[in-house]
Amino acid sequence: MKGFKSGYVAISGRPNVGKSTLLNTILGQKIAIVTEKPQTTRNRIIGIKNTENSQIIFIDTPGIHRPRHKLGEIMVREAKDAIRDVDIVLLMVEPLKIDPETMDLLQLLKAVDKPVILAINKIDKVKKPELLPLIDHYSRLFNFREIVPISALYGDGVDKLLKVIIDALPEGPPYYPVDQITDQVERFIVAELIREQVMKHTEEEVPHSVHVEVVDWKERENGLINILANIYVERESQKGIIIGKGGQRLKSIGIEARKNIEALLNTKVFLELWVKVKKEWRDNIHILRELGFK
Ligand code: GDP
Ligand code: MG
Repeated sequence: MKGFKSGYVAISGRPNVGKSTLLNTILGQKIAIVTEKPQTTRNRIIGIKNTENSQIIFIDTPGIHRPRHKLGEIMVREAKDAIRDVDIVLLMVEPLKIDPETMDLLQLLKAVDKPVILAINKIDKVKKPELLPLIDHYSRLFNFREIVPISALYGDGVDKLLKVIIDALPEGPPYYPVDQITDQVERFIVAELIREQVMKHTEEEVPHSVHVEVVDWKERENGLINILANIYVERESQKGIIIGKGGQRLKSIGIEARKNIEALLNTKVFLELWVKVKKEWRDNIHILRELGFK
C-alpha cells in the first residue's frame, strides 16, 4: 500500500455553517448524520470518502464546538481529548469575520499540534472582492495549513478542499472497507429495534423474513431526530395485520420501538413507520412467466 494515504478528519464549526451539506456533497449521497448528540464522548464517524489513493474518515468531535460560556479547564481538556486521535482538523466558517466561539476554538487549537484547514463556506452568498479581505482576516488569526473558499451547496472549491485534505493526510492503509461510506451501525440497530416490535406484536402470520429499512434520518437543531422507516412484507394480508384495526397495532409497534430507539440514541425521536408490500419482480417466477420470460 505504498503511497496510500488515510486518516481521520475532525469536522468542526458552529451549527448551520454547512457541515452536513459539505459531507453530502463530498460523499455524493445523503447519509445518516447525527451530530452534537448530548453525552457522546467518543468521536463519531460521520462519513468516509474513498479515492483511488486515499481514505478520508470524517468524524464529529462534539467537545470542540461547545458554547463559549462552557470554556473552562474541563472543557479544554475534553476538547483536547476529542482531537487527540485525529490527523487533521477541518474548521468551517461562514463568509463573515470570526465569531467569539470560533475564536475560542482557535485559541485551543494553538496548543494542539495538528494541521488545521479552514473552509470558508457559502461563498455563493458573497461578492468576489469581499473574499480576499476575509482570507486575509483569517490568515492573521491562525497559522492555517490552507484556507479554502467553498460553496458546499453548489460544490465550488470542494475538489480543491479534498486535495488539500489528502495532501495533509499521513501515509497509511485504509481503515475501513473501501466501499463503506458511513458508520451504519446505529441505523442498523434502529431497524432491528423496529423489527423486534413487529415480531412481538404479531404471531406466526407474519414471517420472520419481514424486512425493516430506515429510509430517512434527520437531526433537528433542537436535538430531536426524525426517523422514517419502511416495514416490508410479502403480502397485502400481512400488511393489514401489522397495521391492525384503525392503525392500532402499528401505533403500538411505533410507540414501543420509539422508546427503545430513544434509549439507544439518548435523545427524543419522532418515528414514522410505513408498511409496504415488497414486490420482488426478479425473484418471483410466476410474475416473470406472466410477463413472458422463460
Ligand atoms: P450544519 O449545521 O453545519 O451541518 O449545517 P447544514 O449543512 O445543515 O447547513 C445549514 C444551512 O446552510 C442549510 O440551510 C444549508 O442549505 C445552508 N448551506 C450549506 N452550505 C451552503 C452553501 O455553500 N451556500 C449556501 N448559500 N447555503 C449553504
Ligand atoms: Mg449538521
